[in-house]
Amino acid sequence: MVDFALSDEQRAVRDWVRTFVQRELVPLEPEVLRRERSGEPGISREEARALQFKARESGFWGILTPEEYGGMGLGAITASLVEGELGRTFVPFRFGGSADNILFHGNSRQKEQYLLPTIEGERISCFAITEPGAGSDARAIRTSARRDGDDWVINGEKTFITQGNEADFVMVFAVADEGVTCFLVDRDMGWKSEPIQTMGQWGPAALVFDDVRVPAENVLGEVGGGFALALQWIGQGRYLLPSRAIGSCERLIEMAVAQANSRTTFGEPLAERQAIQWMIADSAVELQALRLLVLHAAWQVEAGQDSRQAQSMAKLYGGVKANEIVDRVLQIHGGMGYTRELPIERWYRELRLLRIYEGTDEIQRRTIARNILKGHVPVAADF
Ligand SMILES: Cc1cc2nc3c(=O)[nH]c(=O)nc-3n(C[C@H](O)[C@H](O)[C@H](O)COP(=O)(O)OP(=O)(O)OC[C@H]3O[C@@H](n4cnc5c(N)ncnc54)[C@H](O)[C@@H]3O)c2cc1C
Repeated sequence: MVDFALSDEQRAVRDWVRTFVQRELVPLEPEVLRRERSGEPGISREEARALQFKARESGFWGILTPEEYGGMGLGAITASLVEGELGRTFVPFRFGGSADNILFHGNSRQKEQYLLPTIEGERISCFAITEPGAGSDARAIRTSARRDGDDWVINGEKTFITQGNEADFVMVFAVADEGVTCFLVDRDMGWKSEPIQTMGQWGPAALVFDDVRVPAENVLGEVGGGFALALQWIGQGRYLLPSRAIGSCERLIEMAVAQANSRTTFGEPLAERQAIQWMIADSAVELQALRLLVLHAAWQVEAGQDSRQAQSMAKLYGGVKANEIVDRVLQIHGGMGYTRELPIERWYRELRLLRIYEGTDEIQRRTIARNILKGHVPVAADF
């Protein structure tokens, strides 16, 4: 049976988030743009927290966090719908109550010190594997961890670490004699961070570890078991990145439609021109194809199936198509599309990141092709 209908719960959650975005976030857009354009964060941590607590009053807290940790424990399909609705605005917001999936592997002390305060939003985490010499090829990391009595001593440099300048602690991956190991390292243990300017609003950071001493009890999981944890973190929700792009593309295409209907050139609205109609048609078809790829990946996650191929496909297609769509929408707006009067250029810069982080286009293609060439995944439909 193929059934495209949402359940009553999925519909109710999606509609609640849609109203929240419309009422609470969209009105902030002009101020967010103004602030970002004068070099400030679009939304302060306190403002984001206030919005998160407002949503919490209606039960929206920890979308994917298990109920035993105070979350909603929603399934992947519903989480994807939530992300899609949040993507309809560029106001940088996510619901509170969540933490990195690998922190759930901590022992009871680590859960107390790192997991629970992160869920509550009292502490900020960051995940650091990328180094100046190792990005796509994560196995080439060189940051070292040397055992010294009851401690480990960490040396090395990490780069492009999201929230690296704001974080209170880092989940850092370093090479020990036993193999790659993950350490929970508080900022006051001595690592330093330096923000990196990017073309988007994301300000990742470079982190430096210079003889940073970490107690042995701060190893997350097993010594030598870090690489599996890193893969688990990266794979936690690859379908969620293109889910957000779905909402952004919806909003952008709606802007293009309004512009095509209202702008007249040579005595006729743009909407009458085949060149413009085709751009809108192609964008609508690709958006629908993206939705189906994303929902299929989310459905596999929820069903507990191996979803890696479907997630890679959704991430790749989402990155490529969202960038083509925003480019067309900018084109339909002509000179205005290129200005800072409109948010299109902001989306243009933000969506570009989707083709790079958490596995570039090329790395997704490499994974997809390998799975097919080695016969791990059939070319024919397997559902
Ligand atoms: C804003 C931002 C936030 C980020 N956040 C984090 C974070 O929180 N934590 C973290 O650890 N990292 C983070 N990253 C790092 C990100 O995951 C890497 O930038 C990404 O994996 C690519 O690695 P690289 O930049 O070293 O590029 P490289 O690996 O040097 O690749 C350069 C180019 O070569 C291509 N390429 C590489 N290998 C192959 C191949 N085998 N075949 C074909 N083409 C290939 C790539 O696709 C890319 O186009 C972030 C990056 C950015 C920009």
